[in-house]
Amino acid sequence: MYPDLKLYIAGEWRKTSEDLAVLNPATEEEIGRHPRASRRDLDDALSAAVEGFAIWRRTAPRERANVILRAAALMRERLEEIARSITLEHGKPLRQARLEVIRGAEFFEWDAGEAMRTYGRVIPSGPGESFTVHHQPCGVVAAFSPWNFPMSQPARKIGGALAAGCSIILKAAEETPAGALHIARAFEDAGLPRGVLNLVFGDPAEISGYLIPQEPVRLVAFTGSTVVGRHLTTLASEHMTPVLMELGGHAPVIVCEDTDVEKAAISGAVRKYRNAGQVCTSPTRFFVHDSVYERFRDTFVRRAAETVVGNGLEDGVEMGPLANERRITALSELVEDARAKGAEVLAGGKRHGDKGYFFQPTVLANVPEAARVMQEEPFGPLAVINPVPSLDAAIAQANSVPYGLAGYAFTNRADYLAQLSEEVEVGNLSINTLEASMPETPFGGVKSSGYGREGGSEGISNYMVIKHVWHSSKIA
Ligand code: NAD
Repeated sequence: MYPDLKLYIAGEWRKTSEDLAVLNPATEEEIGRHPRASRRDLDDALSAAVEGFAIWRRTAPRERANVILRAAALMRERLEEIARSITLEHGKPLRQARLEVIRGAEFFEWDAGEAMRTYGRVIPSGPGESFTVHHQPCGVVAAFSPWNFPMSQPARKIGGALAAGCSIILKAAEETPAGALHIARAFEDAGLPRGVLNLVFGDPAEISGYLIPQEPVRLVAFTGSTVVGRHLTTLASEHMTPVLMELGGHAPVIVCEDTDVEKAAISGAVRKYRNAGQVCTSPTRFFVHDSVYERFRDTFVRRAAETVVGNGLEDGVEMGPLANERRITALSELVEDARAKGAEVLAGGKRHGDKGYFFQPTVLANVPEAARVMQEEPFGPLAVINPVPSLDAAIAQANSVPYGLAGYAFTNRADYLAQLSEEVEVGNLSINTLEASMPETPFGGVKSSGYGREGGSEGISNYMVIKHVWHSSKIA
């Protein structure tokens, strides 16, 4: 069921002399081994990407779109196989893995359309001359995708790059290599020219340290933690290479007094524990108006405690394990720190079971400002629920972290909507829903949550450069 893991370079699948184990986080058992790319493999990927770019940039946008659409159709056909590999390597419930495959295909389908809409501009000019603005693919992209969405995260980057006419070397997450491998297979079968898409795994720091300074690399695209994003941005800046950075978040949820409190609380608890909270837009800091605080908190805690935790392959499971042992330690430390500083632990707070990297759905209430979790992204199944006296106070709390990716609110009041839209410092604000992005909407952060946008009509522009052409019919 789990694929034989290989690198994909210059249109060929390759094993290497060194490989590393991939574990199922629900059982801690080895399910495969991913090859580790050497310098030679990376050099080959670079040469292939340069050759691939020369072909792909000259491929008509409509033909690029057709290849992307064919690949997306193959991913949909292979939905069950891909979803099962994702559940095995990541642990998420199969139902969520299937939805991820569909979302990944939707990202590609959106990007295919965008390939044909990279319009330039004609600037009014005097007689005998023309000013035209062209959008051209930037070149070879070095991309790095994380483990929380093994298929849809690589899809974002591959879709944008290929639609624009770029070639790409993707280092997908070593924890979850199969999602990206299935994408590469689909593109191979869809007839993508060799070298346009290259897939590698290995030591993340070694690969980024080697690829980013290389001359043909014209964009670094990364999704992951702010710490690593900052490091890669520094490295890229030494070479004047632009970056697309989709980094951490610490999403606030403002619950106003006019909302349907029970519904908001259930929606919050269901959404919080999706993907075991390992989502950069995961709703985490709930700021609830004093007058509805207790009702919201109690309903949320009840629903949190009902969450069915287990192996994602089993029916009825709502929440799988965390990615690795490291995440259990990180979460446990945040809970203990908050408890020591006076927070109430109303649900969970500990490892779940003794096999697999499971953590209990956790709710902390009345958490003091000094607790680390009020500033640090937990990236796990942990919710903070604190009372606030007013919308002003809630917005001040929402904006009090260095992050600004997603933010949410529950309200039906037009004046509240206007204030929230104006004042909450995030790239994505959602009202009465805890969904943050769709293929057709721009996604990305402000502050330490990153630069650039993925998706929407904005996304493709990261992968393009602007050229102004001034044509004079006579020599001036
Ligand atoms: P981490 O910071 O060690 O790694 C995060 C990701 O970056 C991983 O995919 C890793 O392979 C990659 N990475 C690490 N060092 C790298 C380097 N030098 N060059 C290139 N890639 C590198 O953290 P972790 O323990 O694996 O994950 C937890 C943290 O990662 C969370 O706190 C969260 O902020 C972040 N994260 C964010 C997203 C997201 O969607 N924004 C996804 C996954 C992880």
